[in-house]
Amino acid sequence: MKADLIIYNIGELVSFRNGPLARVSEDNAVIVRDAGIAVRGGVIVAVGRSGEIRSRFEGETLDAQGLLATPGLVDPHTHLVFAGSREDEFNLKLQGVSYSEILARGGGIYRTVKATLEAGFNDLLSRAAKAASLMLSHGTTTVEVKSGYALSLEGELKMLKVVKALGEASKITVIPTLLAHVPPREYRESSLEYARHFAEIMVPAVSREKLAVYVDVFCDRGAFNVEESRIIIEAGLKHGLRARMHADQLAYIGCSKLAAELPIDSLDHLEKMPEENARILAEKGVTAVLTPTSIMAMMELKKPPIEALRKAGVTIAVASDYNPNNMTPLQQTAMDIAPYILNLTPLEALAAATVNAAKSLNMHHKLGSISEGYRADIVLWELENYKWIGYMWGYNKALAVLKDGIIVHEKI
Ligand SMILES: [Zn+2]
Repeated sequence: MKADLIIYNIGELVSFRNGPLARVSEDNAVIVRDAGIAVRGGVIVAVGRSGEIRSRFEGETLDAQGLLATPGLVDPHTHLVFAGSREDEFNLKLQGVSYSEILARGGGIYRTVKATLEAGFNDLLSRAAKAASLMLSHGTTTVEVKSGYALSLEGELKMLKVVKALGEASKITVIPTLLAHVPPREYRESSLEYARHFAEIMVPAVSREKLAVYVDVFCDRGAFNVEESRIIIEAGLKHGLRARMHADQLAYIGCSKLAAELPIDSLDHLEKMPEENARILAEKGVTAVLTPTSIMAMMELKKPPIEALRKAGVTIAVASDYNPNNMTPLQQTAMDIAPYILNLTPLEALAAATVNAAKSLNMHHKLGSISEGYRADIVLWELENYKWIGYMWGYNKALAVLKDGIIVHEKI
């Protein structure tokens, strides 16, 4: 049979066929030693032993040189489009000033809003493209990108058009999200009014122009409360968007409980979530998107209730949460430090960065797995086997990255 590409001599192939996975173990992982993969039309057409794939298919070949192969990483939470930087706030945080305090003083998100509004379309696009190419070369083949640094209809539309242009210009798959980040400063005392404006004007406009797949809201102290978040999420759902939500990061004000009432694909952060709410996520099939590098960037090392999430059977994903408060665009790093910050096993960390992240974006039927019919997004790692994930870290271990069957990064 003909194939566009045959990858052979894979030392160990690790994937998850029946994902998403709430309880990850070797029993529900697909682990094939001496493996091969056949790709046609950007899609995986066969997975098996190296010799068997080579004898069944003919076409171009790629010798994986005994390396570890996994699905391409899916990063389900980023703020990839922004201008400016906030390195002086890094120093403030080191001196013990909290993120909430920086935000209340008009720093944080508000500074980035100012810089983003002043930046031109092409400037925003070229910065985003640079970060996206760094992501690709480190194994991220799909990325969710949020708006939220403009806070006005015109500005958010511009941001989402940059996101769209990024998806067209880069090989990385981009999932666009309209984010209600914070109320503009002039609405600090009337955030409900802004939430209504967002729901009645901004959501329909974005939906009409098909510029977003998701609606998201930063439900937390200092951002939007539960009532305002509900208004925003409901508007998104009504206008054909799917929903995800920043919840319980800075304080618990009841945000994660909204998932009991509304169909929300993911709740992100959850550092302050009460353990008993894990049951809601499990029952409703909501993915918990955890952000280990962002936890470090908050300088408090406050961790989400991992054991409660595990025990309840919640699907756990990780994300880079790339933003000017957490300046790493790499899902590889989030995956690598997940064992240290979140106590995930290397196999759980891999599932969290691939199949479970795809589930949080409702893309798990075609992304996040090395299985027949899935898009050929594959990473070859400079690692002996999956047990080295997180064990060896701090430099780029992605030796080859394939996106839709095309090699987009290669060091082997
Ligand atoms: Zn975020």
